[in-house]
Amino acid sequence: MFQGYLKVVDRCPVCREELHHHRADDGPAYLTILIVGHLLAPLIHVGFTRFRPEPLVMATVFTVLAVAMSLYLLPRLKGLVVGIQWSRRMHGFGKAH
Ligand SMILES: [Zn+2]
Repeated sequence: MFQGYLKVVDRCPVCREELHHHRADDGPAYLTILIVGHLLAPLIHVGFTRFRPEPLVMATVFTVLAVAMSLYLLPRLKGLVVGIQWSRRMHGFGKAH
């Protein structure tokens, strides 16, 4: 349902379902931050108290982790948000015209 990384296509290329009604907006980014933050915050605590890494090592590891997890989750959560909007017939999904 995407062209490129995050751009939602106007219509499904397989079944012609209109997808341009979606209003995902900041929702996927909010959910990504929520999930990545709640997963990494306890890991930062454990990683620091258990292993006491060098600050630069710690910052590098968690920056790479945060970026990788965010890039992985963002399109999937956008698909989830658009799918929920579609299933709930929100924002014009399912209207005859
Ligand atoms: Zn389809």
